[in-house]
Amino acid sequence: MTAATSTPDIAAIVRQVLAEIAASGAGRPAAAPPAPHAAGSFAGAHGVFSSVDEAVRAATEAFEQLERLGVEGRRRAIAHIRRIAIDDAEELGRMEFAETKIGRLDHKIGKLKVLGEKVPGVEFMQSEVFSGDHGLAVIEHAPFGVIGAITPVTHSLPTIACNAINMIAGGNTVVVNPHPSGRKVAAEGVRRFNAAIHRDLGIDNLVSLVAEPSLESAGQLFNHRGVKLICVTGGPAVARAALQSSKRAIVAGPGNPPVVVDETADLDNAARSIIAGAAYDNNLLCIGEKQVFVVAAVFDRMMAAMERAGALRLSGSQVEALTRRALVMTGEGEHRHLVPCKDFIGQDAAVLAQAAEAACGAGVELLFGETDNANPFVPVEQMMPFVPFVRCQDVDEAIRLAHESEHGFRHTAIIHSTDVRTMTRMGRLLDTTLFVKNGPSVAGLGLGGEGYLSFSIATPTGEGVTTPLTFTRQRRCTLVDDLRILGSPAAVRS
Ligand code: NAD
Repeated sequence: MTAATSTPDIAAIVRQVLAEIAASGAGRPAAAPPAPHAAGSFAGAHGVFSSVDEAVRAATEAFEQLERLGVEGRRRAIAHIRRIAIDDAEELGRMEFAETKIGRLDHKIGKLKVLGEKVPGVEFMQSEVFSGDHGLAVIEHAPFGVIGAITPVTHSLPTIACNAINMIAGGNTVVVNPHPSGRKVAAEGVRRFNAAIHRDLGIDNLVSLVAEPSLESAGQLFNHRGVKLICVTGGPAVARAALQSSKRAIVAGPGNPPVVVDETADLDNAARSIIAGAAYDNNLLCIGEKQVFVVAAVFDRMMAAMERAGALRLSGSQVEALTRRALVMTGEGEHRHLVPCKDFIGQDAAVLAQAAEAACGAGVELLFGETDNANPFVPVEQMMPFVPFVRCQDVDEAIRLAHESEHGFRHTAIIHSTDVRTMTRMGRLLDTTLFVKNGPSVAGLGLGGEGYLSFSIATPTGEGVTTPLTFTRQRRCTLVDDLRILGSPAAVRS
């Protein structure tokens, strides 16, 4: 080896070592302050922006950088989001609970921890191939670019993290307009995700957000030219706004999941399941059990099973007192309707018991009581740990009332029965995205049941439990007559 050739080799080795040190993050303080914005770049902002326009421009820049890193880059970025969601779950869960003041601390923490293994990532990005006499066609799943996301207060950071994992796995970047009441934890989570990804991959702002979100900033995000797709997770108003938007929207709208219990059900299992689902995070989940229709033949035994399983039964007058306080009128004229009162949304069973003038022991997670079908707790998505139980003459009536109470959202329904035909009848009539049999609603998201999890269940637009593929475009690449290795060697074109 001559001196003339060895010099550039040493330089190359030094460059490589320096690049490896930089990539590993070694030698830097663990919590290095963000670098100042480089000229023409948003690096150092770690995803937190004061305007929609800045956030979209930063996410566009991040998208172009992500494209250059390929699938392995996406995998590494997602691994940081998963790791932080798990490692910092306790701290971030506490922050979310303190800021939103709804739900249960243990479940705020739990919802971050499940992001580790239950939410699908790049392994979902399988291509399809058609191979035949005329060669080969490959269908690949390409990113849209920058996605605009609207997220709810019920799970502020978990929805953002889950959306980010799905969307980045699909090769996209995302700008979030978080719910104003969960904006601080949203910003802190996003800042942590981006700081780690930036340190490892040199890309910042894969997940960006508007620090002071409002309805106005949501509108700006919907209409921004740089946003190629919208993903909305929330209640009726925002779902309607997204469906009316000129852009393609994936809409994870409201639910009001009914439960049917027939005479063939395992009542103790039904009771345990209803408590597990409806008490989860104080019934904030869109899939959580909201009203129960039980056939008369087992109604009294079902109520006893609920008490045995630890729920507190309210008397008729206690249900009345709670109804008066916990549901309130809103809107004008023909739009006047009942909604849950903010003071009770996501509060503990003990708070509701006090409003119902009932004594509530420690450890009670759920209140329940008999109501008729006209009680407002039946049609209203209450998002609090009280569930009305309606006595039905038979299973046909139970299924019919369950159908009415779901309002055609086609979100989630649950049945406890061992009669396959009854299950089938209910499944067909309600036509919901999730239909859970003989388990808690959360089993429909793979928690105690099979399958994967997402905090965005796209209902009116039909994508279902979102995955990375939800956020991709199909592209087909066709090669005529070649590359197929089956067939006669003589048939190969020279
Ligand atoms: P929400 O509708 O009050 O708010 C959701 C988001 O939409 C927030 O960021 C809010 O600021 C924004 N928003 C509200 N009205 C808007 C409008 N007109 N234009 C633009 N943005 C608007 O809901 P929430 O209380 O945060 O969450 C609970 C609701 O979300 C429930 O109805 C629940 O069923 C639903 N939800 C659905 C899913 C699902 O996967 N389908 C998941 C979680 C929650």
